Amino acid sequence: MKHFLLLAGLTVASLSASAQSTSSSSTSLSPSAAIDSPAKFLGYQIGERFTPHHRVLAYAEQVARQLPSRIKLIPYGTSYEGRQLMVVAIGSEANMSRLEEIRTNNLKRIGLMDGTPTASSQPPIAWLSYNVHGNEAVSSEAFMDVLYHLLSSSDAVAKKIMSTTVVILDPGLNPDGHDRYVNWYNQMQGRVADPIPSAREHNEPWPGGRYTHYLFDPNRDWAWQTQEITQQRMALYQQWMPQLHGDFHEMGVESPYYFAPSAKPYHEDVTPFQRQFQQTIGQYCSRYFDKNGWLYYTRERFDLFYPSYGDTYPTYNGAIGMTFEQGGSGRAGLAIEKADGDTLTLRQRIDHHFASSIATLESVADRPTEIVKEFGQFFDKSRNTPIGAYKSYVIKSSGDAGRIKALQQLLERNKISYGYAGKAQNVAGGFNYTTQKTDKTVAITADDIVISAYQPKSTLLKILFEQNSKLEDSATYDITAWSLPYAFGLQTYGLTTRLNPGSTQLATATPAAAVNPQTRPYAYVVKWQSLPAVQMLAGLLKQKIRVRAAEKPFELENKTYPSGTLIVTRAGNERFGDRFDALVRAEATRTGADLTPVQTGFVTTGSDFGSDFVSGLKAPRVAVVVGEGTPPPSAGEVWHYFDQELQYPITLVDGNTLGNVQWNKLDVLILPTNYNYSRFLNEKTLNAIKEWVRAGGKLIAMERAASFLAGKDGFELKEKEDKSADKSKKGDNTDTLKRYIDRERTAVSDDIPGSIYRVNIDTSHPLGFGLSGGYYSLVQNAFNFDYLKEGWNVGYLKTDNYVAGFSGKNAKEKLKNTLVMGVQSLGRGSVVYLADDPLFRGFWYNGKLLFANAVFMVGN
Ligand SMILES: [Zn+2]
Repeated sequence: MKHFLLLAGLTVASLSASAQSTSSSSTSLSPSAAIDSPAKFLGYQIGERFTPHHRVLAYAEQVARQLPSRIKLIPYGTSYEGRQLMVVAIGSEANMSRLEEIRTNNLKRIGLMDGTPTASSQPPIAWLSYNVHGNEAVSSEAFMDVLYHLLSSSDAVAKKIMSTTVVILDPGLNPDGHDRYVNWYNQMQGRVADPIPSAREHNEPWPGGRYTHYLFDPNRDWAWQTQEITQQRMALYQQWMPQLHGDFHEMGVESPYYFAPSAKPYHEDVTPFQRQFQQTIGQYCSRYFDKNGWLYYTRERFDLFYPSYGDTYPTYNGAIGMTFEQGGSGRAGLAIEKADGDTLTLRQRIDHHFASSIATLESVADRPTEIVKEFGQFFDKSRNTPIGAYKSYVIKSSGDAGRIKALQQLLERNKISYGYAGKAQNVAGGFNYTTQKTDKTVAITADDIVISAYQPKSTLLKILFEQNSKLEDSATYDITAWSLPYAFGLQTYGLTTRLNPGSTQLATATPAAAVNPQTRPYAYVVKWQSLPAVQMLAGLLKQKIRVRAAEKPFELENKTYPSGTLIVTRAGNERFGDRFDALVRAEATRTGADLTPVQTGFVTTGSDFGSDFVSGLKAPRVAVVVGEGTPPPSAGEVWHYFDQELQYPITLVDGNTLGNVQWNKLDVLILPTNYNYSRFLNEKTLNAIKEWVRAGGKLIAMERAASFLAGKDGFELKEKEDKSADKSKKGDNTDTLKRYIDRERTAVSDDIPGSIYRVNIDTSHPLGFGLSGGYYSLVQNAFNFDYLKEGWNVGYLKTDNYVAGFSGKNAKEKLKNTLVMGVQSLGRGSVVYLADDPLFRGFWYNGKLLFANAVFMVGN
């Protein structure tokens, strides 16, 4: 009960542990009585209940009405569920009156905007992000306290922060997740909170509030920007480029507070200043926590490596980035009893986030000039002496246009500039990502994409493109490889010499412009190589336009087409009459698919369009199993892929109701990874599924779903015997005895947190269509699946397919000679096994084609 002492005694003003009086420009600060406190506005004390997102924003709006000279509301978008996204900028009247100038000067200073800054000095911009994980809802409450305190308090620290720094506060990055949690909690709550951990108010139902509407983890999405909330926020972030970014989270109820310095590993490119500032933040926070007698820890668990977090992404963009973690999360509610008998209350959790917010801002306010100077130097170095071995990158234009366009979009969203070579030339010495060797000469054509490392976003560029990220410590929290050339499957070179883009325009016109609307072609063909072709197929099937796919490569009118090429003939689509051409062309325009009209179906080589080897594609009725036992993103990725990316119907079925499915209304069933299949797929349901497959259905089993089916009657997949158990028996070498202190390290030898493997692909099988350039898989499981004896081993690993990232030595050994994608026939239907998740976090671009093969191509 010791916390109650603090609860009663704590006021926001008492938190100024290190208050030093400051005389700087406090005259520009307005009196405190001008604005409502959160309690006055809301009608309850902060911490008495959870506040829905719109009420949090309404408080900021009220403050903006009452004190317009000190606060600016900056709305930046809308969530999928229609909630407003907004940040507030606050500061002194002097700074707020020239806010736009401060913003643009900052961009000019670092080379992200043309022109010269209008002032020689610049206040730092400090950005605090609250509640990225929706059920870590306490930080949105803390936001209101921070806002009120900074604008109303006569406390010296608050005044110092406001006079020196522009503060940007995002009250809620993930409002859909926040309200999913808060609405649920408020429904569960009685007159008083029940602190018993087994009470239902402490046990959030699946999928929980952590995730976005589509169940993505928004704190894994900063660089990839697959979710609408991330895209809109990052567009704003690039317009401000803060010097500091703090990201507020919660973790398990029992954990004491966590703040910087972060855990190892740090990415090797975290600068000495950034490393040092991690310590500084720690010192500032610890002062507040020590004074109040609060427990905390640093340097454990939360590392600085994977580039798509709210601490690493800002770090790789020159800022000081850090994570704050409070114990609590979706489990804690208003009050919860901990193992030691103490009760953790919402008010305490708010106080801690409030204190670390103020401490962090104070650390900036104490050295504004130094922070701005270091930030500027980061970008000077990026522009003049960029880090990393490669001073430029070349992406061959011979790659698929859809993939290139998607990569360009990712670069643009991250403000990484690129251009085209402009002319053909040979350059000496380039690291070839495909062969992982250095080629003596790289032949560059005019349309090849050239990215120079001599640019402001050079560090981010280097990290997103690095072939293998150097890991100083193997016990990391997340995937260890993300190299974009492999994710997109594009032929890429890293050059040790500087090469500047010769042009901002493509040298040749795109062939799509040549389509003459006056001609009546015999058919249209679309190469099947990336997402736009899939989107086009989905669009055509939805309109009931008949589409076929070529099983074999063919040559026609002097062009070659790979297996999987879509063929849309006038024949079979007569019922669309004169509208046929316009409908097909409109889909190509909408999706960006590469459409070629042809005047004949009589091919030079391959199969004619009327052949049996050109099969009609059905519009499949697709369902995915979701619900308890599935990590929500594993289900969400499939949902998002169909609903947003393909805009193709998909039915979400809860695992508990699988027994009620009307199988005859379904063509494809997707089983994402799930820990509950032994319950969902009891003997009766599994038999029903097998019957349905035998009658022509298609089952796609991913990761643990494949593992669950392995060895079961009717399923050909098998896991190999694990021989590692035998090995440990050999010899009596005491070197192999493990030490207790090393237990985390020992465990990681079985780990494969996410690394890149080159997959051997049978591109003649429909599951391998369009992947002739090779397929790199982001491997996160070492399932040890044996090659199929009867079925098709479409993707498999031999002994040396490892490319990048951390693979524990046992995991690496286990993966040798294993199946990663296979297809078996069962009656008239088929079962597709995928050992990995090709849709992982929606960023592994090449996986989107692979998954489409499983859904639309296999079994036709
Ligand atoms: Zn979190």
